[in-house]
Amino acid sequence: MIKYKLICKDCNNLFDSWFASSKEYEKLKKKKYLNCHLCNSLMVEKTLMSPSVFTSKSEGEIKIKDDKYKKIKKTINEYQKFIKKNFNYVGENFAYEARSIHYKNKKKLKGIYGSASKEELKELREEGIEAEVIPWLKDNNN
Ligand SMILES: [Zn+2]
Repeated sequence: MIKYKLICKDCNNLFDSWFASSKEYEKLKKKKYLNCHLCNSLMVEKTLMSPSVFTSKSEGEIKIKDDKYKKIKKTINEYQKFIKKNFNYVGENFAYEARSIHYKNKKKLKGIYGSASKEELKELREEGIEAEVIPWLKDNNN
């Protein structure tokens, strides 16, 4: 939704109006559906203020997304820290190590983490080996 400040060129009436998009505004204007509430004139235009209203609104939306992303990134980072502290990194050998723990019944205090392909994960699950897939930030992967 975009809020435009509109001005009537006939009576200088200023009023706010909401539109689904800037395209909808253009469409309504073309079809002459935009008229002044006071004098019914069709000489209604967006004021110069409207682009800045629109810009600050979209900047606000981007900022919210950024904050959300930062929160998620922080959560993943904390998760990664926890895993690094409490799990042994086995890198590409994850499927092999997971199997050896499972079949040799190794009671390791620490769990393992590493990378595995989708196929490897599917095979592990079919063999009854539990493995969780977690998001991992690439710039922080050892
Ligand atoms: Zn008017």
